Amino acid sequence: MSPRACRGAAVIVPDSQTPVIIAGGGPVGLSLALGLARQGVRSIIFEQAAELPPFPRAIVVLTRTLEVFQSWDVADAFRARGEFVQTVRPVSALTNKQLIAIDFSQLADETPSAGVIVLPQETTEKLLLQELRRTGMCEVRFNYKLIGATQDESGVAVAVAGENGETQEVRARFLVGADGAHSAVRAAMGLALEGMTYPAHVFLADVGIADERDNLPWPRVVAGERPRGAIRFEPGRWRVIGSLSPEQAEGTLPQAFLGEVVRETIGSGPYTLLWHSTFTIHRRHAKTFRKGRMLLAGDAGHLNSPAGGQGMNAGIQDAHNLAWKLAFALRGGNVDLLLDSYDAERHQAITEGVERLTEVLTRFGLLMPKAMRNPIGAILRRALSFRVFANRLVRAASMLNTGYWRSPLFLGKSSLLGKRAPQPELLVKYTPTLVLHRPSPDVLAAAHDLGIPDVEVVRAHDWRRWRCALPFAALVRPDGVVGSFHRNPSGESVHNGARGALGFPT
Ligand SMILES: Cc1cc2nc3c(=O)[nH]c(=O)nc-3n(C[C@H](O)[C@H](O)[C@H](O)COP(=O)(O)OP(=O)(O)OC[C@H]3O[C@@H](n4cnc5c(N)ncnc54)[C@H](O)[C@@H]3O)c2cc1C
Repeated sequence: MSPRACRGAAVIVPDSQTPVIIAGGGPVGLSLALGLARQGVRSIIFEQAAELPPFPRAIVVLTRTLEVFQSWDVADAFRARGEFVQTVRPVSALTNKQLIAIDFSQLADETPSAGVIVLPQETTEKLLLQELRRTGMCEVRFNYKLIGATQDESGVAVAVAGENGETQEVRARFLVGADGAHSAVRAAMGLALEGMTYPAHVFLADVGIADERDNLPWPRVVAGERPRGAIRFEPGRWRVIGSLSPEQAEGTLPQAFLGEVVRETIGSGPYTLLWHSTFTIHRRHAKTFRKGRMLLAGDAGHLNSPAGGQGMNAGIQDAHNLAWKLAFALRGGNVDLLLDSYDAERHQAITEGVERLTEVLTRFGLLMPKAMRNPIGAILRRALSFRVFANRLVRAASMLNTGYWRSPLFLGKSSLLGKRAPQPELLVKYTPTLVLHRPSPDVLAAAHDLGIPDVEVVRAHDWRRWRCALPFAALVRPDGVVGSFHRNPSGESVHNGARGALGFPT
């Protein structure tokens, strides 16, 4: 239904006060609203469900997402509720012998959050909603379903259906679809999720374990013809996951089968089945995440295999990239440059980062016949004893390897452009920083006269991290990415570089 169908209905949001409409109050919609709030931008979320869903789904908050939460000042709440893990040591469920070690502490030099937090998605969502409500900057309307959207040059018009079926028209400057895999916003943009579905069926069950098996080491792996695994995501709550034959995938899973999997992975004994699901897995994305003033974030824009636990994390990182750009567009930045850069950067992060990693993990972990998986597993274990390889794996698993090479916001040729700022403290604030090394008076004057509020000017505390002993100026964006870098800068190059990197006219 297009908004035309409800022309004449009350416009429930005044345009100037709430410039961003978000469809969907899942982890990505809530994160986007929180990021916008931190940038001083009000938003409204329409969520079709009556309340947050009770399902755990994603159970790990990865390192890069922890940095995002730290930049929004909410990381402590997550650390207090979840289990912070610095080294993941998968063990064989048959022997309890450690198979490999994935040691996040080796990242301590480049991140203030060198680890991951094990936490069920329902708690992540509750914490995000709680922190969002504290800001007073977002109205979350449950029981409101987006049923259509149109746009013109100045804004968007959205049709929403309320609890009793009444429809209303809402206008704003931008609409973001964070409304999941079956996104109505994506449909309104005329887009589909393109890609492939793996020839694999996966089951997932969450079980309650109340005896001494709850103290077993995890993750636990059974490397059979159809591999299975188990992970404890909260005291007393375990997730078992594995692949199914096509015959098993038809119909509902028999209790006896689930009991067998629990016995294999966690051991014999009583358990309570809390939730289970069977599903197919995909590698799909929309060909663009932006059309005019409509944007896609999270599962609305891309769907991935759960191998590697990247789906929710990638969506929250979309929100982190997008929120400051919407805010800067609203403050007079170039709308097209900023929003095109969101599309270019996050497309690259999804297709060259998330999809590649989940592809390897899915093919190795779920699809490869046992006869091949065992020798390749042995090679992998050997390779992990080499520091360089182990570091690459850990950076990919933590999502710290995300960098952007293609973006209309990048000008110039420095190899630092699009990379993470090499000073970790700059990764966990959500405002831009201009880093200067041995600045001339001309550069200092330009740095303090950028005409953009909130740009903090600091001295590089260690030029070696920037691999440049010469005088330099680097603009670090709110998302911690190096947006411009000039050696031997002039006042003019600092002015133009910093403004351009933030989407402002030079
Ligand atoms: C079984 C399972 C296990 C998973 N495990 C992991 C994991 O271990 N790690 C990981 O990172 N990811 C995992 N994922 C993926 C992760 O859950 C998703 O990537 C994540 O939920 C995406 O968040 P989202 O906010 O984009 O979408 P969703 O969580 O789907 O939220 C979308 C919201 O939009 C609402 N909505 C939909 N249509 C409308 C509409 N028209 N109007 C208003 N509201 C609407 C929905 O009600 C929903 O609340 C798993 C997913 C599943 C299904």
